[in-house]
Amino acid sequence: MGFYKKHYDVVIIGGALGGMAAALQLQDKGVKDILILEKHNLPGGLATDYVRGGFEMEATLHEMMSIGPKRKRLKVGQFFDDMGVDIDWMPVPECYRIVLPDSDIDVLLHDGYKRMAQEIDAACPGCFNKVYELMRLCRRVYDSVNTLSVKPMSKVQMLRKHPDFVKTAGYSATQVIDTFQLPKRAVEMLTPYWIYVGEPMDTLPFTIYAFLMADYFSGSFVCRGFSHEISLKMQHKCEENGAQFELRQEVEKILVRNGKVYGVRTRRGDEIRCDYVVSSAYPNKVYTQMIEPLSEVPKAAIKMINGRRLSVCPVSVMMVIDGTPKENGIMNYSTFSGETMDTNKIWKNYSNLTEPYNYITTICLNLANPNCVPQGYTQLSITALVPVAPFEEIKEEQYHDLKRRLASEMIESCIQVTGVDFRHRITEIEVSTPMTIAHYVGAWKGSIYGYSHSMDDHVVARLQMKEEDRFIRGLNFAGAHGISGNGMSPQITNGRAAAKEILEDMAKRRA
Ligand SMILES: Cc1cc2nc3c(=O)[nH]c(=O)nc-3n(C[C@H](O)[C@H](O)[C@H](O)COP(=O)(O)OP(=O)(O)OC[C@H]3O[C@@H](n4cnc5c(N)ncnc54)[C@H](O)[C@@H]3O)c2cc1C
Repeated sequence: MGFYKKHYDVVIIGGALGGMAAALQLQDKGVKDILILEKHNLPGGLATDYVRGGFEMEATLHEMMSIGPKRKRLKVGQFFDDMGVDIDWMPVPECYRIVLPDSDIDVLLHDGYKRMAQEIDAACPGCFNKVYELMRLCRRVYDSVNTLSVKPMSKVQMLRKHPDFVKTAGYSATQVIDTFQLPKRAVEMLTPYWIYVGEPMDTLPFTIYAFLMADYFSGSFVCRGFSHEISLKMQHKCEENGAQFELRQEVEKILVRNGKVYGVRTRRGDEIRCDYVVSSAYPNKVYTQMIEPLSEVPKAAIKMINGRRLSVCPVSVMMVIDGTPKENGIMNYSTFSGETMDTNKIWKNYSNLTEPYNYITTICLNLANPNCVPQGYTQLSITALVPVAPFEEIKEEQYHDLKRRLASEMIESCIQVTGVDFRHRITEIEVSTPMTIAHYVGAWKGSIYGYSHSMDDHVVARLQMKEEDRFIRGLNFAGAHGISGNGMSPQITNGRAAAKEILEDMAKRRA
């Protein structure tokens, strides 16, 4: 048992972005006695890459939000700088190209609110003022969310200082956008990012839509060393700051007595004592399988997980293709394309596994990171972000055929946009599904985005319920299932929020 100390202040389950952000934040505030246990043989969870046939392939990252350029950092970029995690960020050259042949739309939008409003105006004359005003509203809501998430205030103060946030908080993206009376074509051009939250526009809270639009249209970034660069550099910094980081160590049980955490037990049987646990494992798994004894799980915790709806998971086809992007008909970094921009129709299509997906996202990494493959090759991924439920019905013997069919249909759909049939030039290909994700990181049913943000349950409501949703003392969560939800940058915020809760509790105990 010499491998571990007898006791740690904090044990973190999972050495991915959420867990490591929690560790860095704690270390920054003087908490050094931290053990990070990661079940995999690499840090980072989904923020990773892999090598096939000598090519390094990005596993996940399309674009990272909230980074901002040097000297004009946004929240997450600033955190990395402040923590001394020096990542080689590379700006993504455009927001997206949206190709909807049935609506006669093929438009490229760049970052900068004015510039994108001009680009939409060029395709849909007379829209500039309304689109620009919508983007400015999104920005005000975005600024308010950033302020309110760290500075709670009374309702009166909120009304006075954040009127747009308050006015729009109870409405869906569709309801607020409708008030601008934009033509359907312009609305379609403003819709593609909905899928990065995985909730149709009619049920997507405007607050979330506004946050996404304001942030992504400020510009986003990838890393020169793929998303694995973020993971490795965070791990090095955590260790440099004094944390013990152990790979290949799965936590099987979280030990609880009288409603309070007192340790964890690993799969190989080590029992480690601690005051606090930060879990990257989903609450669904923690409250149904990991708490020991299970009688310590309050009924309200089970009610909470049953009441939450899991968000989306990607079906992703990742390829290295012989030939330059141009030779393969690819001119853009990020392309959203499909038969329709009616998000209810897309959702219905995504919810069955019988028809080809009618909306896809295509990312060509070369166009942000030219040396991501040797000269003369293209790194391309095609993704559909779909609900996890239909995959639950798939039997083992159906799985491989389904995966091949989906990949083949998605490639065909991509070729309709590129105009070049690159299939015979595919040099390496990998396909991931919810099963891949569930298997690799243990995300509950393969949901990469935690719980869905819908009108009846989203970040604003969850912030209000924060105290009531804390069921076991000393147990905190950091990961996609946290309050800020989706994606890599929100995991940094979720990790920091978990650290803040621990720091507040430590301060209370000292007082
Ligand atoms: C194809 C794809 C594309 C994506 N594109 C983007 C994008 O463009 N931009 C973006 O921001 N996000 C994107 N994401 C989402 C993003 O990758 C995730 O939201 C984020 O990385 C999740 O981080 P996390 O900290 O929640 O943990 P995860 O990455 O899920 O990792 C959890 C960690 O905990 C470990 N773990 C779990 N249980 C245990 C246990 N019991 N004991 C020990 N260790 C345990 C796992 O091994 C893992 O390392 C994408 C995801 C996918 C799959």
